[in-house]
Amino acid sequence: MPLRLVILGRQGSGKGTQCSLLVEHYGCVHVSTGDMLRAAREEGTELGRAAGELMDRGDLVPDDVMIGIVGERLAKPDIVEHGVLLDGFPRTPEQADALEDILEGQGAVLDVAVNLDVPVDDVKARMLARGREDDTPDAIDRRLRLYEEQTEPLIDWFEGRGLLEVVDGLGTEDEVFARLQATVDDRLA
Ligand code: AMP
Repeated sequence: MPLRLVILGRQGSGKGTQCSLLVEHYGCVHVSTGDMLRAAREEGTELGRAAGELMDRGDLVPDDVMIGIVGERLAKPDIVEHGVLLDGFPRTPEQADALEDILEGQGAVLDVAVNLDVPVDDVKARMLARGREDDTPDAIDRRLRLYEEQTEPLIDWFEGRGLLEVVDGLGTEDEVFARLQATVDDRLA
């Protein structure tokens, strides 16, 4: 069975790097809803314009829109054949319910949701060290707070389904990846 994996992690947790390593190792398809929305915005599609305003405010794009987009993507043959690493979706328990239904419709299940855990103080220090213009201490605090608010119900949802694994995200890229791999392989065994 191809792997179906969800990854969660704060901004600055190293999630992007670990996603690249995971898809390389497991051969599954990386689906980042943030990337999909940013691409739609670049293209200037109707979705991109509507989503752009919400994204700027840190608000979520409505569940029905996201569920439609991801449902279409998950039905494509590359994912059916090779599996998926979902990054940025689900974001709400409603999206998680829908994901469960979509996978069930394909005769598939979610294998695991991994929370790549890096403490708030560490991600703040990492983001400040990157020195990006939009990474002011206030903006960082705001984004992290929003993430916390939005993600907490989702963590509970995965935990309730027995699907949650917490992986320590501190250490070198290789160390963190080794932990991720061990966690995923354990689940698959
Ligand atoms: P990300 O790159 O995952 O942080 O996503 C950037 C922005 O895109 C978020 O702040 C949301 O506005 C929007 N977004 C991405 N994924 C979702 C989702 N699953 N549900 C709702 N909004 C989303």
